[in-house]
Amino acid sequence: MMDMDLELNESEMHLYSRQILLDGWDLEAQEKLKLANILIVGCGGIGCTTAELLARAGVGKISLIDADIIEISNLQRQIAYVEPDIGFYKAEILAKRLQQINPFIQVEHYTSRLDQQNAQMLISQQDLVLDGCDNFATRYLVNQTCTHAQTPLISASAIGFQGQLFMVEGDSACYECLFPKGQQQNESLRCADSGVLATTPNVIASLQAHHALLYLGLGRTPLKQKLLLWDGLTMKQRILAFEKDQDCTNCQLSHTANAD
Ligand SMILES: [Zn+2]
Repeated sequence: MMDMDLELNESEMHLYSRQILLDGWDLEAQEKLKLANILIVGCGGIGCTTAELLARAGVGKISLIDADIIEISNLQRQIAYVEPDIGFYKAEILAKRLQQINPFIQVEHYTSRLDQQNAQMLISQQDLVLDGCDNFATRYLVNQTCTHAQTPLISASAIGFQGQLFMVEGDSACYECLFPKGQQQNESLRCADSGVLATTPNVIASLQAHHALLYLGLGRTPLKQKLLLWDGLTMKQRILAFEKDQDCTNCQLSHTANAD
């Protein structure tokens, strides 16, 4: 068991010195990171990189969930894995790597799928959830559970040369406001079927981890109710504001639940 001192010890001060030195970041921000609990949903191209950056930056407790096994086609972009890892659980290998990178943080992993049974338990106690999963069913479930539990969510996705990112927090519009379930995008839009350049998920994951640091350390929410679109062919980035959908079933249900 790691000691859960709120204050940073001398080794931690050295480890995070370049951050603590930073104008606009300070000891207090670094201590907030140490106290933070986050859940990373999906340990693929996005989850690997987000998890590693946040472990290095000093997020105190990181939980990982992914039911998949490492395959050879993952190695092209999923930077935590090497050839001898093939056949092992992604969540398990990634957890080991994070613990090697930063022995001062706590890492937990789950080699199951996030489902109706475990979602509430996994999400409700977190300070932030980072979604980088590869299917719409899980995305909707994560969004639903986060809005009901009032747990902030930063959702990232990448396919081909395109990436997108946004944040759901407090009473903001949710994933379902942006992508109503009825008009659900084609489930076949996955890396497994459509292909993805090695760099695309890593660009978006870096932005997701960056946003997580802004939020956890400084309380900033630049992408709350804003959709960041990154185009990997032109390298253009756009940020579009979006509104709460008055007909969103998820928001209506959450509103009722939280009014009790
Ligand atoms: Zn909504």
